[in-house]
Amino acid sequence: MKAAIITIGDELLIGQTVDTNSAWMGAELSKSGFDVYRIISVHDRREDIIYALNEAAGKTDVVLITGGLGPTSDDITKQTLCEYFNTHLVMNNEILSMIEEMMIHRNFPMNNKNRSQAEVPESCRVLKNAAGTAPGMWFEKDGTIYISMPGVPHEMKYLMTELVLPELNKRFTSQTIIHKNIMTYGTFEAKLAEILTTFETGLPENIKLAYLPASGVIKLRLTGTGSDYNSLSNLINEQVDKLYETIPELIYGEDEESLEMVIGKLLKSTKKTVSTAESCTGGEIAHLLTSVAGSSAYYKGSVIAYANSVKTQLLGVQDYIITKHGAVSENTAKEMAVGARGLLKTDYAIGTSGIAGPDGGTEVKSVGTVWIAVASEREVICEKHVFGNDRITNIKRFSLAALNLLRKQIINH
Ligand code: AMP
Ligand code: MG
Repeated sequence: MKAAIITIGDELLIGQTVDTNSAWMGAELSKSGFDVYRIISVHDRREDIIYALNEAAGKTDVVLITGGLGPTSDDITKQTLCEYFNTHLVMNNEILSMIEEMMIHRNFPMNNKNRSQAEVPESCRVLKNAAGTAPGMWFEKDGTIYISMPGVPHEMKYLMTELVLPELNKRFTSQTIIHKNIMTYGTFEAKLAEILTTFETGLPENIKLAYLPASGVIKLRLTGTGSDYNSLSNLINEQVDKLYETIPELIYGEDEESLEMVIGKLLKSTKKTVSTAESCTGGEIAHLLTSVAGSSAYYKGSVIAYANSVKTQLLGVQDYIITKHGAVSENTAKEMAVGARGLLKTDYAIGTSGIAGPDGGTEVKSVGTVWIAVASEREVICEKHVFGNDRITNIKRFSLAALNLLRKQIINH
């Protein structure tokens, strides 16, 4: 069962609109057991659309198409499909009344351009679009199904969810595809791949492993293909267990879980609280923690101690510590964490001090250096990390490193 996706629109090729339709449709097709063979984005140009259709024709069972269905002259998908399927446009009165009703409801006058949206290729099956004015179109030719939908994401999703996917699921007795994500933190991709060499070579034929890194988090995606859901699911679970045995210290969660979500769960279940004292991260850790719904149960607040005066006056870091060791040092980060824990009366507190860059590095302390401390009732621990030169990437990486250190502390307690 193969599928292709064609997205049409000049805006996609000049970087004005990100092609989110392909990503969404790819995920849905994959869930339904389709192997998405190709995604092609083309201009609103007749010859390019025909090229894309020819690319998919004969090689796939289903071709999903979005874009180019607007009422204006730059949108030419419908005319091009007529040419491709050797048919012509006819007025569809049912669609016309739907559009008229919609325009009355929105209090807009109806014009010829709106009316033209009710014209559809004679040979297609019309997919009524309750979410907008342009209907979807279903064609079949030489064993391939072609479905053209509007580019507006919520209209495409409406048609897909209500009409297209249910019918495709009925027509194609589906092969099962299961994706399982294991979230890791604490090493880099090449190293992880080295650690997992034996695991990878031992994977069954029908299970594939992918590494998806982002700012220090590496998502390991296992994709299994088979005919029976339950046996495939068991097979995937066996591999997941093996991963837990191989890299227990690197796995922090599953599926789309973030470090801050996992920390939220841990703090809630242990009924503990946390606060932050952030210098180089400037509130990023606070932002990540508070982006989790329900974080008020465990997150109390932050002191963004960017200036040394704030470190000393609000957090009680002693002047001599900064003079002797520097603001970017183990001692300062530790005192910041201890200070925030006392000031904000929390069980844990994070302190960060580092050089995000691009300036400010020295021979002994290069750009990308960060000290991260976590204070708890029992102890104050501190880690040094050295990342790269890009400021925004560093802030993100410092913050994730801090969250991971906090996570490990909570687990160890
Ligand atoms: P159209 O059907 O070509 O009139 O598309 C209408 C609008 O939908 C465009 O202006 C874009 O903002 C949006 N759009 C079109 N194609 C895509 C796509 N592949 N992904 C996300 N948005 C899209
Ligand atoms: Mg368009």
